[in-house]
Amino acid sequence: MSSDHPSDRSLATRLVHSVRAPERSRHAVVPIHRATVWTIDSQGLDDDVAGAYDDLLYPRYSNTDDPLDLGAHLADLESAESGLVTASGMSAISASILSVVRSGGHLLAARGLYGGTHKLITRWLPEYGVEHDLIDASDPASWSGCLRPDTKAIYVETIGNPLMNVADLEAVVAFARTHGMVSIIDNTFATPLVFRPIEYGFDLVVHSATKALNGHSDVLAGVVLGSRARIGAIDQQLRLLGGTADPQAVYLLRRGVKTLGVRLPAQNASALELARRLQSHPGVASVSYPGLSSHPDHQRAKRLFGPQDAGFGHMIAIDVVGGWPAARRLLTSVKLFLHAPSLGGLESLAVSPAKSSHAALPAEERRELGIGDGLVRLSIGIEDVEDLWDDLYQALPG
Ligand SMILES: *Cc1c(COP(=O)(O)O)cnc(C)c1O
Repeated sequence: MSSDHPSDRSLATRLVHSVRAPERSRHAVVPIHRATVWTIDSQGLDDDVAGAYDDLLYPRYSNTDDPLDLGAHLADLESAESGLVTASGMSAISASILSVVRSGGHLLAARGLYGGTHKLITRWLPEYGVEHDLIDASDPASWSGCLRPDTKAIYVETIGNPLMNVADLEAVVAFARTHGMVSIIDNTFATPLVFRPIEYGFDLVVHSATKALNGHSDVLAGVVLGSRARIGAIDQQLRLLGGTADPQAVYLLRRGVKTLGVRLPAQNASALELARRLQSHPGVASVSYPGLSSHPDHQRAKRLFGPQDAGFGHMIAIDVVGGWPAARRLLTSVKLFLHAPSLGGLESLAVSPAKSSHAALPAEERRELGIGDGLVRLSIGIEDVEDLWDDLYQALPG
């Protein structure tokens, strides 16, 4: 270990040795404070009353030791100034969006976002006077036409669901800067090992920590990262909206994050290997994986994710020959893969987007998005890759 400065160490090391509040020198390795009541610092007694109240320690304020440490830790991993742990990914997403748009405001959102985010932006926010336009995040030339004087933000995902598209993220940042908008990105599918949006100039990064960041399918939590000022504003808002993480979730997430550097590269390597084999299987019409040269965004993925050398993610989508009957057969005949939604855990999962995440869309719209009835989305876990291949092979059409 050549340096004492945390950011000189590799990410794999920094995942395990977390950044903590600097004033304390001794720490429990895996701390948990369940307390909802914390004593008052007697120095605060002489402060003006309103200020002193804000200084009270209370879990909903995210200002007790464990969430403060984990927020700082996650911020450090993605080169952000500040970070906040939230009750869920949706809590991080809704608070981030609400921190930058008000009634009368407008935002640009990528087409095909996570279902909850899409619904929040297209159904719920309009009722509060916040308008939107849906954009093709890979076609920067089309964005200017959607601009309005009150366009406040542009919202994208690092890797799109379910076809694993990688949007023109550099153009998103440049466009936001040119037009004085806040850029927000959901980095759930990538994690800080694969992509660190702040280093590319994004203003706010959100995660569903429920997925790969925790990785053990046993925590509901979210993360927001950004500048001290932006995170401070979101923090104040979450105190009132109540979207703060519970101490148990903070504890489990901290434990989960420690192993990300071991879990995810293994998952990503298996995903690449399986994607390659699936591509030449006669029962598979096409494979969507950004690590394959056949993926339309492969060159961009190589440029953005390549330098981190952690792979191209653990998510694959395959179009099974024979449509829904064949996809259905695959989902019911896999023995290792669990037929389940969600992603990022240790167990490999398989699900039909047409029957789950995108079921609410009319079939015609699904087809336009490239989501056929034969599409199956795979989240690759840490099982032996040969066992995973055998499982898919016996379940695919021969
Ligand atoms: C799951 C998910 C969310 C929502 O996160 P929750 O923790 O379930 O609230 C948001 N974005 C993406 C990309 C997701 O996969």
